[in-house]
Amino acid sequence: MCSIWVVRSPGGQPEGSLGVPAVTTCRHCGAEWGGMHTSHCTSCHETFDGIASFDQHRNRGRCAEPGELSALALLPRAYRCWGLGSC
Ligand SMILES: [Zn+2]
Ligand SMILES: [Zn+2]
Repeated sequence: MCSIWVVRSPGGQPEGSLGVPAVTTCRHCGAEWGGMHTSHCTSCHETFDGIASFDQHRNRGRCAEPGELSALALLPRAYRCWGLGSC
């Protein structure tokens, strides 16, 4: 399964559909990230390494602060990106 797009809108449509650029920039907050599974939240504008970590910060249709979630940890990447710390 490789259809996960790099930008997810909570409750909305994924943005973009063709190809996966090496670096994606959010036109709203200016954040940059890479990786075809990386997800940038268009609501709170945090970046996550995949659907699993993205879903961790979504709670009842709202965004939680990733830094307050014990399940998430900042990854050692060149850009701000959250991942599952226990993996
Ligand atoms: Zn969010
Ligand atoms: Zn953004």
